[in-house]
Amino acid sequence: PALVLDGKDFGLSLSRLSNAAQKVVKQLHQSGFDAMVVGGGVRDLMVGLTPKDFDIATNATPEEVRALFKRSRIIGRRFRIVHVMVGPETIEVTTYRGGDEVTQNEQGRIMRDNTFGSQAEDALRRDFTCNALYYDAMANQVIDYHHGVADIKAQRLVMIGEPKQRFREDPVRVLRALRLSTKLGFELDAAIAAVMAECSPWLGAEPPARLVDELIKLLLSGHALACLHNTRRLGIDTSVHPFLQVLIDQDLDEPFIQLALENTDTRIKQGKHVSIGFLLAALLWPKVRSAWQACIASGLKSQFALNEAIEQVRVELDSSSWGLPHRMTAMCREIWQMQAQFDNQRGQRPFRLLAQARFRAAYDFLLLRHEVGEDNTDSVVWWQHFQAVSDDERAAMVQAQP
Ligand code: ATP
Ligand code: MG
Repeated sequence: PALVLDGKDFGLSLSRLSNAAQKVVKQLHQSGFDAMVVGGGVRDLMVGLTPKDFDIATNATPEEVRALFKRSRIIGRRFRIVHVMVGPETIEVTTYRGGDEVTQNEQGRIMRDNTFGSQAEDALRRDFTCNALYYDAMANQVIDYHHGVADIKAQRLVMIGEPKQRFREDPVRVLRALRLSTKLGFELDAAIAAVMAECSPWLGAEPPARLVDELIKLLLSGHALACLHNTRRLGIDTSVHPFLQVLIDQDLDEPFIQLALENTDTRIKQGKHVSIGFLLAALLWPKVRSAWQACIASGLKSQFALNEAIEQVRVELDSSSWGLPHRMTAMCREIWQMQAQFDNQRGQRPFRLLAQARFRAAYDFLLLRHEVGEDNTDSVVWWQHFQAVSDDERAAMVQAQP
């Protein structure tokens, strides 16, 4: 039987929800449906973090939800969920899912999972106990089926059910366990820690694009560096995805990587935006840089050498085993290419470079390289000045170049 707890005891109230979440909850409630905040939203409020977003679980069907909100749409094939847009926010509304008609393949992997169920059944399918709390904001009550509240108090990440079986059903839970335990500062329950390394190779059978999504979440969690150290410490199989492999194989203490990850973690914690294209460019830079140096050593001029190095890395990056979205690799490439273009300080070229959409990102990248001691001081100083002055002065700067 579920525990029903008073939201006041945890400092919860309707007003702690975002504007959009409040509106959606009230509207569903008024129409006679359940409206439960569930998952990361409740969990983060209870541990004192600011939730990234709010997900709502309901007994209304996707069509019923869709009919209640003008700005909404049904998405997803495997799980049909409704995105409700309120102002700038999007709230995910999911109908309780049930247990009967789950289709598994011979290995126990869930293939189809889209039947409706009760709230209790819905709770049983979630991954960790702290993720299976249902917050009824109208009644200000927390409904707890799996002792999630006790585990939050004890700062433990505990799997619902038998960890090995739950990892087999969906191997991505390995990466979720890694990210959530690190981000929350929770200790992995012994039953999870005991099998995580051994279950991690199953990730290799997942579509690369799904792993990339999860890896990006990890990098943008505000605890990227710690997550990567934990990946090593826990013995997670990194051969399951080339990006994870590159990240872990390279020296995490390499100044460039460390600085890029620290900057990212700081920006995320300050609530600032981080461009994943920029981050990717930074994380793969040591690879590109050494190829660039090798090409220069073989006699190519700097700009050609860099293009050649980028081409070598690009072939790998764009291969289907990475599953990276094209716009991300494109941004990466532009940032890299501009690194050599910064050395062109004559004629119309500096003006053309300045006008490029990615100029700012590429210039920030130049600064990052400078910060870790790459020898580009002259370039940094020149471009800093070039950006700051008037058009006439810029023309004079370009003229003055030997
Ligand atoms: P975040 O802070 O990253 O949003 P989250 O726990 O909210 O963390 P979501 O991906 O938003 O993560 O998922 C919302 C909820 O859906 C989870 O809290 C969990 O209850 C459930 N869930 C998500 N992914 C899985 C999964 N692979 N297996 C079981 N339950 C899952
Ligand atoms: Mg969430």
